[in-house]
Amino acid sequence: MKIAVLALQGAFAEHEQMLHQLGVETFEVRQFSDWQQPKDGLIIPGGESTTQSKILHELGLFEVIRKDIQNGLPVFGTCAGLILLSPMHLGTMDIEVRRNAYGRQLGSFHTVAPVSGIGEDIPMTFIRAPYIEQVLSADCQILAQVDGHIVAAQQGRQLVSAFHPELDNDTRFHQHFLQMIRLQSA
Ligand code: GLN
Repeated sequence: MKIAVLALQGAFAEHEQMLHQLGVETFEVRQFSDWQQPKDGLIIPGGESTTQSKILHELGLFEVIRKDIQNGLPVFGTCAGLILLSPMHLGTMDIEVRRNAYGRQLGSFHTVAPVSGIGEDIPMTFIRAPYIEQVLSADCQILAQVDGHIVAAQQGRQLVSAFHPELDNDTRFHQHFLQMIRLQSA
């Protein structure tokens, strides 16, 4: 299995480390030609969603990535990656998102909460995080809520978290993504 990691900006190296720890190969997507490599899935990391979106457009990657996701390429978006998949940008996931949802005071925090199908005690690091205000389609399944706000969801082969599982020492969220790929390609 080989996972493409969007490496334009933000927290991509930590995702790669976690996947390597799980014995999975990765490659970085920094320019258009990188996208031609065979891949079983894509990770869109945290960072700054507006910047990532702008660079994707500049590189000519925005539309090809959108098409591949629409055609079933498994994708995992964390934080800014969640925003990228929402109707604000790529629009492949039916979620209404609020950016920087926790305001300045609570800009960054850590908690532990259950994630449906993954575990009861998943560590969650939030950094100027968004949350999902509502899911806009019955195909989109809510996986986790913190303080009444949706912080993880899945729609077909698309998985998103408002928090950063790559920053905690717990690989279960990434394992769930890999399992999702394996099940759907079986
Ligand atoms: N606040 C960032 C944005 O709106 C997301 C923060 C993150 O990815 N940690 O794009």
